[in-house]
Amino acid sequence: MTSPLRAYFLGTGTSTALPVGPCLAQVDKPSRDVGLFLDTYNAAPEDQRQPDRWGGYDPKGEWPASVACGSCRASVSPSVEEGWKNRRGNPAMVLRKQNANGEWRNVVVDVGKTFREQSCRYFPRWGIKHIDAVLITHGHADAYNGLDDLREWCVRQGRPMPIYLTQATFDTVAASFPYLVDKTKASGGGDLPTLQFNVIEDEDEFEVEGIKVTTLPVVHGRYFHAPEPAKPTEPPAPSAPGSPQRVESPAPTAPQPFICLGYIFDNSLVYLSDLSSVPEPMYARIEKTLAKRSAPPVLVADTLWPWRPHASHISFPQAMDIALRLNPRPAHTYLVGMTHPVTHWTWLELGRHIRGESGKEPTHPDQHLSQALIEKVWESEDMVKIAPELAKWGGLVEPAWDGLGLEITDDGCTELPFGAAGGSAGGWGF
Ligand SMILES: [Zn+2]
Ligand SMILES: [Zn+2]
Repeated sequence: MTSPLRAYFLGTGTSTALPVGPCLAQVDKPSRDVGLFLDTYNAAPEDQRQPDRWGGYDPKGEWPASVACGSCRASVSPSVEEGWKNRRGNPAMVLRKQNANGEWRNVVVDVGKTFREQSCRYFPRWGIKHIDAVLITHGHADAYNGLDDLREWCVRQGRPMPIYLTQATFDTVAASFPYLVDKTKASGGGDLPTLQFNVIEDEDEFEVEGIKVTTLPVVHGRYFHAPEPAKPTEPPAPSAPGSPQRVESPAPTAPQPFICLGYIFDNSLVYLSDLSSVPEPMYARIEKTLAKRSAPPVLVADTLWPWRPHASHISFPQAMDIALRLNPRPAHTYLVGMTHPVTHWTWLELGRHIRGESGKEPTHPDQHLSQALIEKVWESEDMVKIAPELAKWGGLVEPAWDGLGLEITDDGCTELPFGAAGGSAGGWGF
């Protein structure tokens, strides 16, 4: 009997994280989508501008009611039930598994810009007292900028911390934080995290703290100029697990895909936090890996916008297309990477609509806007292509939220009870 895998969402938002400062500060220029919302609001007849039709927005009301962005407003409005679920850090997870002695081992996936605040908020609730390894998905600030914040953890643990990343990500880290990869670059005086870098291949398989890891190189936008050849850096410390199987690079003059690693953990949790597309051969790789497990998988999928495509991220219909292509299809799909102004409640409604269960809370202040958005999403080109299959499937799709914990066993996936020791955590209070 092996230990179940526990997976906690440390962050479920965008690279900016939510709420967004300029929304709460009410700067003159709204974001693009908030601008569209304001156009609709201002075009509505005066007698149809009741706040409870518009997510609680009241331009003449007191802050935060006067904040035009729905999710940023909800994230600071205690009158909104579970409004705190609109607070989202950079995408990140903590995976936990018990070793042979029954001790929980902790592996963090991505330490971005919000790692410090998120770990302060959730680690005490989850009972996490040590970090045993870190996996980095790619070389963007929301995935690795928190490496410096591992300093105190390294000092207290008194041992080097293994960091798993590709050569391309290592080169980016080395350019950003020279002192983290080479202590001669430090000016002295302060503590430095002792990080042990383990370079992995784009396609790799290895085990970390008893957790099986299968990498999934996926496309996360493109370079429109050939990137500078990586400057030679000190070859990182040892252990490159698995056998090299590099994804073929296109000619340097063509736009080159920027590769981000997705992962499959324990042959059951498919984690795709940052991507614009899944290269076709990856579906066979996913299927082969999932076949090692009897229970249907859990999918964690990037979903930036409800329907508009983006150069570096997928939309809700594109995420649903991936869910439909998995074999077997996911028992539960959690969305991450959502941006404002769509509220957590509205994302729930989008998921419910797949099962014909939307529109059942007519008095909710987000109901009117949610119904309009559902119509727009289901009319979009990408959704029209998959809508019949999606309805036939009727899968469980929900927005994840910071603090949510899952337990994954051979029997399936369950959400850990809220507020219990080591359970799901959250709320207004911290
Ligand atoms: Zn906002
Ligand atoms: Zn990124």
